[in-house]
Amino acid sequence: MLGGIKGMMVTIRSTLNGLRRPVTAQYPKQHLPIQARYMGFPALTWDYKIDEPFCTACMVCIRNCPTLCMSATMKDNPLQQEGKSTRKKIVDTFEINLNRCILCGICVEVCNFDAIVMSHEHEMSVYERNGDRVDLEPLLDMGKQFQQDTAWVPPSELAKKSGAKAEEAAATSDSGA
Ligand code: SF4
Ligand code: SF4
Repeated sequence: MLGGIKGMMVTIRSTLNGLRRPVTAQYPKQHLPIQARYMGFPALTWDYKIDEPFCTACMVCIRNCPTLCMSATMKDNPLQQEGKSTRKKIVDTFEINLNRCILCGICVEVCNFDAIVMSHEHEMSVYERNGDRVDLEPLLDMGKQFQQDTAWVPPSELAKKSGAKAEEAAATSDSGA
């Protein structure tokens, strides 16, 4: 009997708490904030220093994608020929069928050029079966938005900075010893 009353009190208390501070949202009218590490659809990044994509269409991500939902072609980089870029090849076309993407992040893990990110984009529902085949321009737009929203720094630059800091700290502790 006493146990039953205690259980009822717990239920009433949690119902009242839920009414005061609901943990659910009336989506799609209401949107909860996206967490910094949220993994939405993959997107391509833009190199603002040179004003071109990071992607060289090297095909590594495409070969490693478990759902085979990506394709790309490359071309000679005109900016390299003008001496403005070190990338000999640059992406010419790129397509991801986002309806087949499982958001695994493997493409981001295997890319050696900081060229692809898991963006915060996640609202791209369409009625057509092939309606989410997204090509280069929208993928770059999604990437630019992500770069802007998150003050993105290329992972290789971050790694260099943290490597330099670690060396500095080791040198300081050596000189102190
Ligand atoms: S996103 Fe990265 S791994 Fe994929 S084709 Fe471009 S450069 Fe290569
Ligand atoms: S997140 Fe996974 S499934 Fe989606 S494009 Fe990248 S490798 Fe393919």
